[in-house]
Amino acid sequence: MEAAPCPKCKAPMDEGRMSWTGNNSAGYVSNKQTGMLRVVTKISQARACPNCGFVEMYLDPNELKLRLSGK
Ligand SMILES: [Zn+2]
Repeated sequence: MEAAPCPKCKAPMDEGRMSWTGNNSAGYVSNKQTGMLRVVTKISQARACPNCGFVEMYLDPNELKLRLSGK
């Protein structure tokens, strides 16, 4: 993924990934996932702005589409 400046303040972004203190990665659950089993889509990449603190996160879009289509 090409490096893009912070969308808020245009400062260079720092690349990383979501991480809680445990051994599991952070994940995303869509509001469209209304079933009993809300499978978390793993957030595979994150970028943070060292200037203003803005954080953007990326998951695997194909994995999310699978979650949204799979009933
Ligand atoms: Zn910023």
